[in-house]
Amino acid sequence: MSRKKSETDVEELPQGIEIKLQEETETQETAGSEPVEQTVSEAPGLKTNASFEDLAGVGPATAEKLRASGYNTIESIATASIGELVEAVEVSDNKAKEMIISAKELLNMSFETADRLLEKRKCVGHISTGSKKLDVLLGGGLETQSIVEFFGEFGSGKTQVGLQLCVNVQVPVEKGGLGGKAVFIDTENTFRPQRIQQMAEAVGLDPAEVLKNIFVARAYNSDDQMLMAEKAEDLIKNDGVKVLVIDSMMALFRSEYGGRGQLAERQQKLNRHLSALHKIADLNNILIYITNQVQSDPAMFFGDPTKPIGGHILGHQSTFRVYLRKSKGGKRIGRLVDSPYLPEGEAVFMVSEKGVTD
Ligand code: ADP
Ligand code: MG
Repeated sequence: MSRKKSETDVEELPQGIEIKLQEETETQETAGSEPVEQTVSEAPGLKTNASFEDLAGVGPATAEKLRASGYNTIESIATASIGELVEAVEVSDNKAKEMIISAKELLNMSFETADRLLEKRKCVGHISTGSKKLDVLLGGGLETQSIVEFFGEFGSGKTQVGLQLCVNVQVPVEKGGLGGKAVFIDTENTFRPQRIQQMAEAVGLDPAEVLKNIFVARAYNSDDQMLMAEKAEDLIKNDGVKVLVIDSMMALFRSEYGGRGQLAERQQKLNRHLSALHKIADLNNILIYITNQVQSDPAMFFGDPTKPIGGHILGHQSTFRVYLRKSKGGKRIGRLVDSPYLPEGEAVFMVSEKGVTD
């Protein structure tokens, strides 16, 4: 860890335990100077004033245990798995199930009519990648309420896209952003505030302001990474964060669970992490951008012998998957390989001093 303390005010945390607020007193203003309205609303129908004690079978003791285990909203119970609750508050499977069902009832969360789902889809916002072509490939930029995974070899531009999103999210809605802030969970020590400054200048934002709206945390192991994502939720709920970047998603998991025998354990943990991320994306109407490496697939004789790591779990949990390749002269090729409703396709874009562009 030889990185020098940066000259700018984005701080790295010594222990990676807490995400630090750059400015506690900040108002909803982003770079530029125009105050930014929150035009993208929260997903509807998930608020209640009920407390844990209103849940079936929950008394003060259980409520206390729930809080101590990090559950702080009815919604966090409603979206928990039975196993998780059993472990957290030492109750039977049945009791955990009862708690989840009653939380869902309080939030009207069971079945939703399709017109309400459409309402929720209407809240989806888009963040421009900086390249129009890449935006078009992805249906008009990267969507909130989704997990977008960019995978590719070292140097293919995955981190650059992540940094660019932290800048572009701050651009007002009418100019391709969401007038929001960013959280960047850095597992490889590749976050560079100077690069953010460059990108901010290129899109005409005040670099100093842009830096203030990005909360950065280093994660040192996979537990840490999961904890950071959880911690980020406070910022997301209270500080107008609209994009969460995890760069890289798999690096720590991969190095910690190297042995063959550990794969099942790794995948289970990864699954838990991804479910938590989905909830965060969905309930807070934000974009989650994750990067991933590739490994060579020895069983592959034709075509590209590389594949993303993380297996089916990651493959299925990513809403959009984009494979990045390096081409000549700063050019990059992004290939959309998996999307719920968009056709596969490719877009050529650039990574230059200005950041991600056409
Ligand atoms: P990875 O996929 O490993 O995360 P990166 O996103 O870090 O790759 O991309 C690194 C590449 O981005 C560099 O090799 C370079 O081509 C390009 N790049 C990074 N910073 C700049 C810059 N300031 N000016 C021009 N190109 C840059
Ligand atoms: Mg990188």
